[in-house]
Amino acid sequence: MPIPKPVLPKDRQPSLRTQTHVALGERLAAVLMLMVGAALAAFATGALPAAAQSYEPHTGQPAVVKQVASDLYFFYDYDGSNSVFLVTDAGVLVIDTREHPRAGQNLIERIRKVTDKPIKWVINSHFHGDHTYGNAAFQAAGATFLAQQETARLMKLVQPKEMARRQDYFKEHNYDPNEVKLILPDVTFDDQMSIYLGGREIRLMYFGPGQQPGDTFVLFPHDRALFTPGAFTSHSMPNMAFTTSVDNWIKLLDKVAAREDYDVILPAHGDVAHREDVRELQSMLADEYATVKGAVAKGTTLEQAQQTLTFPQYKDWRNYTRLKSEIKNLYELIQNGKRSYFE
Ligand SMILES: [Zn+2]
Repeated sequence: MPIPKPVLPKDRQPSLRTQTHVALGERLAAVLMLMVGAALAAFATGALPAAAQSYEPHTGQPAVVKQVASDLYFFYDYDGSNSVFLVTDAGVLVIDTREHPRAGQNLIERIRKVTDKPIKWVINSHFHGDHTYGNAAFQAAGATFLAQQETARLMKLVQPKEMARRQDYFKEHNYDPNEVKLILPDVTFDDQMSIYLGGREIRLMYFGPGQQPGDTFVLFPHDRALFTPGAFTSHSMPNMAFTTSVDNWIKLLDKVAAREDYDVILPAHGDVAHREDVRELQSMLADEYATVKGAVAKGTTLEQAQQTLTFPQYKDWRNYTRLKSEIKNLYELIQNGKRSYFE
């Protein structure tokens, strides 16, 4: 089993740490069975935060696989979550596994239509269940799991809450929640790590918290393609329940938009995008954050803010209907630095 070499980026301060932690031997210990009891308890005690609010009604648009380069494929599910897979002579690397082992299995079947090479690596781009709950299918296929260390920590910490807020999805698809297993990464990294597979470099990068701590960007330099995690969705109002620093989030979007090593963006949600879309989200976030911060500074109550801050300029954005709960989530962060989802 090849162990990835941590690679220090040339443009980084030498004081910045890059660290990998390999825990292959602990894989069995790391596989925790879902505790339905705990999930139901969270449900019953009303521990579900505003983050649990459901997404917009589904469009019924079927999921498709788009080939974006000779060896790179984008699984695009507008109503759900996306995945990416790279096919090389030495095997396959996958980013994100969808929201249930059966959905993960469906993704494997789509990969099998392209290649019969073994699935070697799975990257989980952030801790949300819609990007990690298909892991069991990929574990059965023999993959090794990778994630940023904050993602590993949060996957474990909020497992009951993640399960609780995904019950509607399971019901809607007739999936048994008991089949979901928490499968934690075998390998974690801190700032940056490169994997080499079939002569290709796959570069994992962490720029600090975006939509949440752990948000991992993945660059395929040879294809000039960049996978983006929860921190970026084109023309969509983000969920504000998980970020620990909107300032850092805005900064990292600026950094991503300024990079010159990609032409195409493959996001965790939404269709193929481009750097202009990153700029657009960055200015929306900056505007939303400054406006809500201004309201807090003036002593506006949460209820008043929810009534008066209607941001009509974003009416046509996806998830605009969640605005009231996003204002509440921002109030929580701005007023007391709290992230109740992680408590
Ligand atoms: Zn998601």
